[in-house]
Amino acid sequence: MKASVAGLAAPYAFAQAPKIENTQLGDNLYLLSGAGGNVIVRTGSEVVMVDGGLAQNAGALAQAVAALPNSGPVRTLFNTHWHPEQTGSNEKLGMAGATIIAQENTRLWLQQNITWPWNGQKFKKFAKIAQPNKTFYDKGALGTGPSEIRYGYISDAAHTDGDLYVYFAQQNVLAVGDAACGQGWPVVDWWTGGWIGGIVGGLQRIQSVATSNGNKDTKIVPGRGPVLSVTDIAAQVDMYGTIYDRLNQMTNKGRGPSEAVEAKPAKEFEAKMGNPDEFIRRSMESLWAYLSPDA
Ligand SMILES: [Zn+2]
Repeated sequence: MKASVAGLAAPYAFAQAPKIENTQLGDNLYLLSGAGGNVIVRTGSEVVMVDGGLAQNAGALAQAVAALPNSGPVRTLFNTHWHPEQTGSNEKLGMAGATIIAQENTRLWLQQNITWPWNGQKFKKFAKIAQPNKTFYDKGALGTGPSEIRYGYISDAAHTDGDLYVYFAQQNVLAVGDAACGQGWPVVDWWTGGWIGGIVGGLQRIQSVATSNGNKDTKIVPGRGPVLSVTDIAAQVDMYGTIYDRLNQMTNKGRGPSEAVEAKPAKEFEAKMGNPDEFIRRSMESLWAYLSPDA
């Protein structure tokens, strides 16, 4: 998985043992950061983990998980999507006999070699033991009663076409992987299905799942960056909705990615969010991919 250290993962990649930090989110529920992407661990009689960091950090992450109060062997691992920041513990936990849950499209991507056309980054297919061994299409649940964990497909293709959410009812925490971004502009992985319209749709879906119990205090954990509130997600819906409208109009006028970057369609958000050029370019490409899937 060496290739994955470049590009997307660069700010999080460590040559030596990474420092994994944990933040308690609720009873028996922890956010671990520093493994390459956000990892959530529910301790107790059956340890459940959402995402597994980068493969080179899997050992350090396992140690950090074992050191949590009430911990034990990880029985269930969720992959919120196929990217290396989420699937780096699959091999280790698959060999240890854990159940690896993913949306079916995530399993399909992990069964093939992938090369991103925009930067040439390569991803090797996973050995069978490291692939998700329990997949679903729409939704599912783990356990019953107050500690029930509900999960479901974010079918909008916000980030990939295999995004899922995991909702910890007791702690009122919703893990959404990279379907929401807590830090900077998101990667628009249109090669495996993501697109700018899906970012908006996915955020709206997250909003409705998070508030489905009339609850406005749900903690939403993105794939990277700090925990978000329902209000943060609403602000993101507005921002990405505005950008999507502008890019859509440019596409309808026959403008391409470079013209879109020059037009600065994210101008008023740059001070807060940083340079948007890569994001705008990928978003325009994603519109082309979405509007002409056979091209
Ligand atoms: Zn991702």
